[in-house]
Amino acid sequence: MYEELGIDARVLRLAEETEAELSEQFARIDRVAETCQMKVLAAMRKNRISEMHLHGTTGYGYNDAGRDGLERVYADIFRAEDALVRSQITCGTHALNVAIASQLRPGDEIFSATGAPYDTLEEVIGIRPSPGSLAEMGITYAQADLLPDGGFDLDAIRAGINDRTKMVIMQRSRGYSSRPSLTIGRLEELIAFVRSVKPEVIIMVDNCYGEFIEEREPVEIGADMAVGSLIKNPGGGLASSGGYIVGTKACVERAAYRLSSPGLGKEVGASLGQNPSFFQGIFLAPTVTAGAEKGAVFAAKLYQKLGFEVFPGPDEPRADIIQNIRLGTPEKLVSFCRGIQAAAPIDSYVTPEPWDMPGYDSQVIMAAGAFVQGSSIELSADGPLRPPYDVFLQGGLTWYHAKAGVLMSVQALLEDGLLDL
Ligand SMILES: *Cc1c(COP(=O)(O)O)cnc(C)c1O
Repeated sequence: MYEELGIDARVLRLAEETEAELSEQFARIDRVAETCQMKVLAAMRKNRISEMHLHGTTGYGYNDAGRDGLERVYADIFRAEDALVRSQITCGTHALNVAIASQLRPGDEIFSATGAPYDTLEEVIGIRPSPGSLAEMGITYAQADLLPDGGFDLDAIRAGINDRTKMVIMQRSRGYSSRPSLTIGRLEELIAFVRSVKPEVIIMVDNCYGEFIEEREPVEIGADMAVGSLIKNPGGGLASSGGYIVGTKACVERAAYRLSSPGLGKEVGASLGQNPSFFQGIFLAPTVTAGAEKGAVFAAKLYQKLGFEVFPGPDEPRADIIQNIRLGTPEKLVSFCRGIQAAAPIDSYVTPEPWDMPGYDSQVIMAAGAFVQGSSIELSADGPLRPPYDVFLQGGLTWYHAKAGVLMSVQALLEDGLLDL
């Protein structure tokens, strides 16, 4: 079948060799997935989820048993007091905006303990001026950068947290930066330190891409809130839109009043037929995430063998599903993305081209052919056309599909004469 997909014997041999060397890594990923699967199952049993919960409401959405049941299930999986899980949350950025803006009032300060936040949060906060930003509401911002070795700058964090600091934010995933992702163990240290500096501060973790990569999640190690997107890990590839906020009762309540309206909160918000895909998506999410993580580890090992620098390395700890490969030339970046695109179940026949994407200072190339538009738990790759020509690879609804994508990227490089095997 690989031959039928145009992958030649040299690439296949390399794949077999690579896979054989990853048995320990894959066994570790499977063990985490197994634990997470049991967490999801236990939460569904505890909350007595039944067929009734798969039905939903329209209009105001009063008494939507499915939606409310789903939120109890999320709260239990993430070991939180409460949860807000809604299709009305349009994406990860929206979830983060609701989570952050709902807790802050004019005169408050927000502090990032893990350096610059994800790109889109710059406009939410007002680091880049934007209508409706926190800055416009009189909320100020400060940050402590990570140390050059990726460590926490504890002195800068202690000095940066002041009387006005209402919320401290931390990002679990590397996003599209070159810093390492933060394991739960490291986040736990950071949260404990921040608590020692200011016990009452609200700690929020941007949990995008991190769900089910480890056995524990941010709220159970002391965060007040964790936030993410349903078209990443926890939607399991089935949720067609949405976001979640889990955390303390007080934090989630404020977020709900912000998302709908003061006075309404969690009581409104029709599920509009989304309950089955949200339930089934979270049920499948541990294995789907494991497949994507295996794909990332496989890509790291294989491209390292081919002489490329990869971040993280195949044996390094991981806290998200993103794999960065330093391709080094624009031709290789374009060729890599064409290979990923050719492996897509949707739009496999199109050729991605670099383009001037709004908000970026260089051209960007993106490869994706997803069932859900923009879903990055599905296999996708992208990178800016500037040195060092890094590509960011993530997703794969099954390990086999992620593997096929990686092999087709190698095949594309080979066919374009950019690689020797
Ligand atoms: C994806 C992501 C976001 C934003 O999510 P969108 O759904 O693209 O708005 C925020 N933070 C991190 C770390 C992410 O990976």
